[in-house]
Amino acid sequence: MTYEEQLDLWVEGKPIHNKKREECCPDFSCCNIDLLAPLDERIAFKNANEDVRLSMLGTFLGRLLERQGHEVITSMDEELINNLKRDRDSNNKRRTQ
Ligand SMILES: [Zn+2]
Repeated sequence: MTYEEQLDLWVEGKPIHNKKREECCPDFSCCNIDLLAPLDERIAFKNANEDVRLSMLGTFLGRLLERQGHEVITSMDEELINNLKRDRDSNNKRRTQ
């Protein structure tokens, strides 16, 4: 099964683990059916460019981790990201002074 074949089946709602490549579907639903992303997200993933796909993979991975009881912080947590950037910027300033 090629990546594209696996992707098409996944979009149709049939997540199948790619045994040949040992690769999960983007949302890992082949191994955890509860994680199957809604149809609109599956279609959006198929039509997305590499950057958007990567960001969606991050979201899917976050859901998997959350399901396993981990606390997940994503780039959606804007305030936190801004605070991290501010810390980094002030560290950089200190280094150049
Ligand atoms: Zn899998």
